[in-house]
Amino acid sequence: MNKPKMALEKGVPSSSRVLMLLGQLERMNGEAMLSESEVSRQITSKILHLIQTQEKTRKELTTKGSGGMEVILATLENARDLQTILNILCILNELLSVGGGRRIGVCVSKGGTAVLLQLLISSSKETPPNEELMLNVHSLLAKIGPKDRKFGVKARLTGALNVTVNLLKQNVHNNKLLLPCLQVLRVYSANSVNAVSLGKNGVVELMFKVIGPYSKKNTSLMKVALDTLGALLKSKMNARRAVERAQVATLLSIYQDWHRNDTRHRHTLIRKSILGCLKNVTNSKLGRKAFIEADGMRILYNTSTCLPVRTLDSLVSTSSLIMRKCFPKNRLPLPTIKSVYLHALPHVPAGGPVAQLYNQPPGVDDVVDESDDNEDMELETENDTENEEDDKDKAENDDFETDIAKLRPRQGQTRPFDELRVYERFFLELSEDFQEFDLTDSKAGVGVTPAPPLPKPPKPILVPSGQAPPKPPQEAAPKPPRGETGEPLELESIGLKCAPEKLLQGESLRPVPPAQPLQGGGTATPRGLEPLEPLEPLELELSSSLSRLGLEGGGGVEDGGGEQGVLEVPDTAALLPLHDPELYIQVAKSTRSVPSYTEVAYPDYCGHLAPGSPEPILERVYGVQRTKIFQDIERLIHPGDILDKVVYDLDLQSCPVIDDGESLKFNSQFESGNLRKAVQVRKYEYDLILNSDINSNHYHQWFYFEVSSMRVGTPYRFNIINCEKANSQFNYGMQVLMYSVQEAISGRPQWGRTGQDICYYKNHFSRSSIAAGGQKGKSYYTMTFTVTFQYKEDVCYFAYHYPYTFSTLKMHLQKLQEKCADGVYLREDVLCETLGGNPCPLLTITAMPDSANTTHINQLRSRPVVFLTGRVHPGETNASWVMKGTLEFLTGSSPLAQSLRACFLFKVIPMLNPDGVINGNHRCSLSGEDLNRQWQHPIPDLHPTIYHAKGLLQYLNAIQRAPLVFCDYHGHSRKKNVFMYGCSVKETVWQTNINAPSCELHEDLGYRTLPKLLSQLAPAFSMSSCSFVVERSKEATARVVVWRELGVQRSYTMESTLCGCDQGKYKGLQIGTRELEEMGAQLCVALLRLHRLTSPLELHTHSHTHTHMLEVENELIETQRCSVTTSPTTYVLAEDEPVLEEVDYSAESDTDHDLQDPAEPLSDSELNDKDPLS
Ligand SMILES: [Zn+2]
Repeated sequence: MNKPKMALEKGVPSSSRVLMLLGQLERMNGEAMLSESEVSRQITSKILHLIQTQEKTRKELTTKGSGGMEVILATLENARDLQTILNILCILNELLSVGGGRRIGVCVSKGGTAVLLQLLISSSKETPPNEELMLNVHSLLAKIGPKDRKFGVKARLTGALNVTVNLLKQNVHNNKLLLPCLQVLRVYSANSVNAVSLGKNGVVELMFKVIGPYSKKNTSLMKVALDTLGALLKSKMNARRAVERAQVATLLSIYQDWHRNDTRHRHTLIRKSILGCLKNVTNSKLGRKAFIEADGMRILYNTSTCLPVRTLDSLVSTSSLIMRKCFPKNRLPLPTIKSVYLHALPHVPAGGPVAQLYNQPPGVDDVVDESDDNEDMELETENDTENEEDDKDKAENDDFETDIAKLRPRQGQTRPFDELRVYERFFLELSEDFQEFDLTDSKAGVGVTPAPPLPKPPKPILVPSGQAPPKPPQEAAPKPPRGETGEPLELESIGLKCAPEKLLQGESLRPVPPAQPLQGGGTATPRGLEPLEPLEPLELELSSSLSRLGLEGGGGVEDGGGEQGVLEVPDTAALLPLHDPELYIQVAKSTRSVPSYTEVAYPDYCGHLAPGSPEPILERVYGVQRTKIFQDIERLIHPGDILDKVVYDLDLQSCPVIDDGESLKFNSQFESGNLRKAVQVRKYEYDLILNSDINSNHYHQWFYFEVSSMRVGTPYRFNIINCEKANSQFNYGMQVLMYSVQEAISGRPQWGRTGQDICYYKNHFSRSSIAAGGQKGKSYYTMTFTVTFQYKEDVCYFAYHYPYTFSTLKMHLQKLQEKCADGVYLREDVLCETLGGNPCPLLTITAMPDSANTTHINQLRSRPVVFLTGRVHPGETNASWVMKGTLEFLTGSSPLAQSLRACFLFKVIPMLNPDGVINGNHRCSLSGEDLNRQWQHPIPDLHPTIYHAKGLLQYLNAIQRAPLVFCDYHGHSRKKNVFMYGCSVKETVWQTNINAPSCELHEDLGYRTLPKLLSQLAPAFSMSSCSFVVERSKEATARVVVWRELGVQRSYTMESTLCGCDQGKYKGLQIGTRELEEMGAQLCVALLRLHRLTSPLELHTHSHTHTHMLEVENELIETQRCSVTTSPTTYVLAEDEPVLEEVDYSAESDTDHDLQDPAEPLSDSELNDKDPLS
């Protein structure tokens, strides 16, 4: 129903009346008739009346295409009559007051800013300027300014800044005019150039006049003035001006006034704005100093701690931010941040990290507060964002390899074959004729064949220079305890390589020192063996704290065992088939540490049994970080409450053991231990400092220490205060690991996730940027956690992650050999000796040949090689647990394992960095370097394990046996789940802008198969976290070098989370050793499937093998459905594991010719669709 519109005047509908008026205006503009002021006044006043009374006319004026805004602005530009101008300004004000930002946007886009600024300038030339006009222009500018990104620049260029400032100065008490002027000023100030210019014009002082003293009148005025001031104080020059006028103190006292008077919290916005000013003024060093001198810490602390209402959180957050920023920076309470232990290197390459480190001038650690660079501390709010990670990802994006030549795998740069021949000895299986083995003529190792004797290990290569012939034969079996045999050669090497030396303050490394005499008593060995004294058998003790448990009889476990009753060891043999406490002590004796440890930690001695119950990722309690930070600030406010009692200190000649019942006792002097110092700060709170990696001054992350003398039921707070990474999974639900001896002896020998109130934040400790090697990260971070101990007289151990020592590895290898299933060919060689004098084990695992006849032996010799390595980074202990899972599976008796062994020849180096592991390093070897950055040019006497691992691969390559798969096991501290990094030219090119000829991009997709299989098989594995790009910064890693130089297409880094999973079956759970071991086993299963996909010939020539494999897989699943074993060391197929249905991967399989119709390669999403877990 169209009702005719009501006619108001002369039959013209109201809807067009305003348009008619507009039309008149437009004509007048066009004919320059605005001088007819009377008419224009009338028209504009009519329009004003209409829009004041009828909303729809406003709409008509501003709808798209009406042209209303243009006409109005043109009129304003041309008008000379004051009343007309005022009318138009009022019209604009009416129009822009409602309708949200859209109408303002229209006004800006039609050039409103310029017209208004021009009007401002021209009107300012009258004296005095018309107040009403100024008022109206400013309130319009205040509206459109924030919507015009160029507003600040336009205002400066037209000279409007000064007009507004002068107007303000003349009208400080004219509140009506003041408000719109200040609002405009606030917009001006957002531009940093304007801020400087306004500051020079005295605006900072002007704002102080407006904001103080405290008054509840004109709060809106005050708010705008404070915001303007806040913006101005972002300029360093303005901040300095304010500091010089003692205005930091003024701001503090105004804040206090508001805090006292605003008891009903009606003006929190004003209070927030005052804090905003303080926050900006303290960005400068001078500002922070003034803040401290004005007692700012106490004022903000006191005002924050009495704000219980959650709605005031923003005040507390900002206060806390300011206080943290102003907290005086301290150096760590250490003589030097260089590692407490020094290991003399065979040679120190000039310009290398070690030479740099020890050439630093003394005192270089000293903190310099040089952060006067507005390095705005990130606002760490409670719901801590993961932005940093995003930033990191962005930074990584710049890291993609863009040199197409480097993306082309290039072979050929290798050592001459004559030199590589030395590695032949590690491939006995390729020349062995198996005549002396008792091989029954059964089918491929179905468990009938008796275990073969372990082939004699070859001699270790001691001096792998290529020219020098290998040294005379030497037993590669675990070395006898030092001194028992005492070969002179060994002694020499101890003297040269293993002299431990306390690194004292200011002491610097003498390059290549000869045998270092030990200072009497001043060694790192508090008791027991003096390494270079006439050698006596090394005795290992269980940590001394245990004697207080009444468990220890007579000072430790004696050599040769026999005193099994010494310590109540829970009988875990059945549960922990690879663990044997006595054997552990035995092997630990031959492990060589730089500090010459004489103790073993109880958890390593007794073993770890994965707990039965799941350990959820911890939910973060609201406000934890703030509470912790306030407790830290209290140290400054109430220094009298702080004990500052050093209770443990490796830097002291004889590390003090305080036993006064008032303090906890600490110990870290055992294999893989890391804790340098403990300071009791309050009765139940301790600051802990970690040791740097040997021959370095950083990489603090791994920790492992013992605590005793605790009180039951009391929460203890521990702060590790020299963490270095900008963020940590401790902020996202990860807990520390604890092992209680009391729990262990009552039958639960296990590491468990523990700790409450965990958080990770930047603290007030710092180092100079020189000491940090020019790095930006000068600040340290605190990782804090709280533990309430349950048992009296307990001894507890804490660790960053499940410990796995080198001695544990040696023990596990020995047990694996003993328990090895029938038909397994398992050989342990010593690849080489490490800098610290430890053997680096190399394993060869495959199936014994079916018989000693040529066909079977040739079959063995033709098996593709799978090369696995791990634990190049000592702090990534999870890699060792994954490796344990792999090794147990590989040597086990399951039908799958049997098939796998028949398919492949495995070469495994389970621990590439034994020295780092033994000495409690986080990332480096004894050379102070990250070994996973040395694969391009490993130096034989500095990086022996890498040099020889690469040598093995080069040898394989030279004999045309390059591995089918190479995989290096790692741990990841920032991401969840397990995932892989691989190498793909195509995927790297996609991520960059390289113009690669398309022929370069024909790349086999085979590198994706293994990760895809894993994402189907292993619940912890996440395909979406995988990446296959080649980064420049990773060009010296195992993965990239093995891919590029050795042409291994399937070259991977497998990263396991230290925290937990956020997808799949383990979603929401922290990772444990059971899951890690399972991962290692699943990798084996995936390899078996990969084999099927990559060896189509098998289908024909060995079809019985293939069928057999399928049978056993299905069989295994059937049995698993019925019974689930609970042994943590046995691979357990998950109940809801994807059924092993035939997924068609064949399109991406490189050699599969059997395909009928080549399908599209499976995309991730397709895979996920088939994954019942997703
Ligand atoms: Zn790593």
